[in-house]
Amino acid sequence: MERCCRTCMPCLARLWNCIWPEQHYSPRAEPEEPAEIRTVAGDLRVPEPKRRPAQLYAALFDFEARSEEELTVKEGDKLSVIEKRGDYVLAKKLTGSLESGLVPASYVTLLKDEFAKYKWYYGNINRQKAEKLLLAQQNKSGSFLVRISESNSDEYTLSVRNESKVLHFRIQRSSIGSYYVSYKISFATLDELVGYYQKNYKSLGVPLVLPCAQQRELYDMEPWEQPREDFTLHKKLGQGHFGEVWEAVWTTEKKRVAIKMLKQEDTRQDEFVKEVQALKSLHHPKLIQLLALCSRGEPVYIVTELMTKGSLKNYLESPEGQLLILAHLIYMASQVAEGMAYLEDRSIVHRDLAARNILVGDNLVCKVADFGLARIIKDSVYTASRSTKIPVRWTAPEAALHQRFSVKSDVWSFGVLLYEIMTKGKMPYDGKTNKEVLELLTSGYRLPCPGRCPSDVYRIMKECWNSESAKRPSFHDLHSRLNQMYSSLYYNTVQV
Ligand code: AMP
Repeated sequence: MERCCRTCMPCLARLWNCIWPEQHYSPRAEPEEPAEIRTVAGDLRVPEPKRRPAQLYAALFDFEARSEEELTVKEGDKLSVIEKRGDYVLAKKLTGSLESGLVPASYVTLLKDEFAKYKWYYGNINRQKAEKLLLAQQNKSGSFLVRISESNSDEYTLSVRNESKVLHFRIQRSSIGSYYVSYKISFATLDELVGYYQKNYKSLGVPLVLPCAQQRELYDMEPWEQPREDFTLHKKLGQGHFGEVWEAVWTTEKKRVAIKMLKQEDTRQDEFVKEVQALKSLHHPKLIQLLALCSRGEPVYIVTELMTKGSLKNYLESPEGQLLILAHLIYMASQVAEGMAYLEDRSIVHRDLAARNILVGDNLVCKVADFGLARIIKDSVYTASRSTKIPVRWTAPEAALHQRFSVKSDVWSFGVLLYEIMTKGKMPYDGKTNKEVLELLTSGYRLPCPGRCPSDVYRIMKECWNSESAKRPSFHDLHSRLNQMYSSLYYNTVQV
């Protein structure tokens, strides 16, 4: 049983919550020892819940505070939303007075991908590529770009050419979501930060003159194609719907990788090229990273990072999976929602979100796999090879009946995935045919609450299965709620 030491972080958190239940305890220091949730096996370590930088919101309309609790905002004000409170959000201004208070939720909107329109924004390129681009002939001293940080996808790096060298400045995020290079001055958005350092370059020590001149299209054309001989196949990991998956070594990179083999006759060449171009630009710690391709010759190799524990479906059913406790399960679901929120921001639809398409690594790290793959494969192959695998059970009625796939149909599938997680791999609608499932769903039936599943988790599933797709929650919302549940479970179950 738990023992209170009165000084460690979890005990302080509990003590705080007893005294100030309305206030959120926010530990500042890291625990000295890596905290651990024990199972009977006693060997599963999960990280301390991460306090994600808040999302950036903007006020849609002017709002005049009517009481001290409320916050006056002007249309366009940049805000950080601290929490939702019924029809209101507790928001903090990111510029000027930095006050906080309640604003009607319908008066604010989440800003998405707002940097894509800037010429200096290069998104997902690594340090090496940034240097190559900036040092190219067409750029001069003072050329600069902003890219997503390689180590933390919530943060960015400003790369600036200074004569024949490139300097890199880390752009960090504060806990309220503002951006800063030096903690002395922070900004609501990246473009405000860039604008400031263009005018005040002395504080950076190097001028920002012009955005890097390289065309992004040229960067995108860079070869991902790798010689087949650079990969040595080791062992077969599984037989997927579209071909075999192998563990291999990428000899030139000295890296263990996974290779998905597709038969050329099964792939739609036009879609393949389009989708693979899109996949290359996706980069998130909760998405399986595409590493290389061998698309000339047979079979096509799709090379991705290797996940040690295989698919979530198999993992949940394994002896180790059967030992997982609620905190582990919620931690995994929250990671899937995080990866899907990244796709949601880019309006990318997965179309086949299910536990079989989530991969598990060490320390219960979960990543979404096979996004975009559904469109590469010829429809006839896709449906034919899967008719026995019943994807209908994961598919929203509007998508199954009328092919209306959307981010919201992915949210439906997430609800079913959550059911799979909470039942540790049970087949949804077990014993029913696809036809019966569709009939049941259209008549309003929904999967029942799994045994030992808390009511607030089942409530999330039901929201995902709202027959009106627009009323289903967003993946950002799902991630934030699951993350919050994980935080409270973690601090209550950790052994000290
Ligand atoms: P799929 O074609 O995605 O259904 O994959 C078939 C099986 O191969 C999965 O169930 C996993 O066990 C395994 N697998 C696929 N991709 C990977 C990967 N990146 N790392 C490890 N195992 C994988």
